Amino acid sequence: MRNRTPLIAGNWKMYKITPEAVDTARQLVKLVADCSNVDIMIAPVFTALDPVSGVVRGSRVALGAQNLHWEKEGAYTGEISADMLVSAGCQYVIIGHSERRQYFGETDETVNQKIRAAIDAGLIPVFCVGESEADREAGQTFSVLDKQVKMGLDKYFAKDLGTLVIAYEPVWAIGTGKTATKEQAQEVHAYIRSLIDQLFDQALAQSLRILYGGSVKPDNIAALMEMPDIDGALVGGASLDAGSFSKIVKFK
Ligand code: PEP
Repeated sequence: MRNRTPLIAGNWKMYKITPEAVDTARQLVKLVADCSNVDIMIAPVFTALDPVSGVVRGSRVALGAQNLHWEKEGAYTGEISADMLVSAGCQYVIIGHSERRQYFGETDETVNQKIRAAIDAGLIPVFCVGESEADREAGQTFSVLDKQVKMGLDKYFAKDLGTLVIAYEPVWAIGTGKTATKEQAQEVHAYIRSLIDQLFDQALAQSLRILYGGSVKPDNIAALMEMPDIDGALVGGASLDAGSFSKIVKFK
């Protein structure tokens, strides 16, 4: 029986200008006002963080960002630090999303530094890992995840990682409409949990929330959430509409 509070997180990627983001956040706040026993997060683009924070403040919905830089400040044109995200109202930050790894040169080393910056600033890191289709077909799923988790969390201690969230997002399932089966996802989540137990300790492994991401929709969330090691979802496309995202939040 899972005693971890589920987290349903929406990654809005590079969608929605500020008035659209504010409007969607307003609708969502109303739709989920009566939800309990589930944590909810939305991650709009940087320019919408501050205005959306005014909408979600005091509601069931928490604010997250989609990326950060690991330095506190400096001559890093175009970058945003953890403290800047906190001052814009963020509680969470997504780190190492496969789109950042694929298109923007994110590596296991930069992910590692970003997790440190997030934790030091009091942000909850949502650390994304996942194999490509080629990795899966080559039977490399577990070795790829092993490397991502070990390098992403290298030099950390269990005491640093109390708030950490891991999102397992098979790259072949993101934005493709192909969801991992609940059994495929459960197998990987259980593997990640056992890896955390091996690398850190059992208490952290048992309290760690592991989200599934990859074409999660209102009609497949309930089945995924039946699985003992799936503690919620990181949702892309279906989080852009407040109605469909709220249905995912109300998966029970
Ligand atoms: C994501 O971007 O993290 C994601 C899982 O996207 P989608 O739900 O659209 O597959």
